[in-house]
Amino acid sequence: MLEQKLRDVVRDIPDFPAPGIVFKDITPILKDPLLCMAIVDEFVDRLEGIDIDVIAGVESRGFLFGLMLATRLGLPFVPIRKQGRLPYKTISESYKLEYGQATIEVHEDAVPMGAKVLIHDDLLATGGTVVASAKLMEKLGAVVVGFSFIINLDFLNGSGRLMRFSDNIISLVK
Ligand code: IMP
Repeated sequence: MLEQKLRDVVRDIPDFPAPGIVFKDITPILKDPLLCMAIVDEFVDRLEGIDIDVIAGVESRGFLFGLMLATRLGLPFVPIRKQGRLPYKTISESYKLEYGQATIEVHEDAVPMGAKVLIHDDLLATGGTVVASAKLMEKLGAVVVGFSFIINLDFLNGSGRLMRFSDNIISLVK
C-alpha cells in the first residue's frame, strides 16, 4: 500500500535544519521510479473531479512532483520561488516564520486571470508557505481550487488555515 511504503521510505532526520527539529527527508522516494509513478497515479486519482487549469509548485521540493503531475495531466506548471530567483517581473508575498520572515514570488504573467490553480508542495507543516502561495495566486486574479502534498504533519493543523481558499486538501501520508 502506497501510504505504508511512504512511511517506510521517508527518513526522519533529527536536529535538521536546527536543534529540536525532526526533518522529514523525502529524497529516498526519488531513487525509486516505480514509487514516483505510484505517487503521481495516486494524485491523479485523488484529484479526479476537480477542474484544474494550472499547477503551481513551491520551491524547491514542490517542483519535483508538481511538474510530474502537471505533465501527466497535460497542464501548465508554474514555479513559486524564494525572493530574488525569478528572472522576469514578479509579485511577492511575505509570511512569518517561527523566527523572522520569508518572501516568495511568482512571475506576474504566470497564470491567466480566473485560472483555477492547484498548489502543490512536498509537505504541509504550519501552512504558512502555501497560504502565502494562495495569496499570490489570488493577487494574480486566479482561483485556488485545491492543495496537494505528499506529507501532512497534521498535528500542526496546517490544513485548518487552507480551508478559506479550498477544502480540497490532498495528502498521501499524515
Ligand atoms: P509550513 O510553511 O510551516 O507549512 O512549512 C512547509 C514548508 O517547509 C514546505 O515548503 C516544506 O518543503 C518545508 N518543510 C518544513 N518541514 C519540512 C520537513 O520536515 N521536511 C521537508 N520539508 C519541510
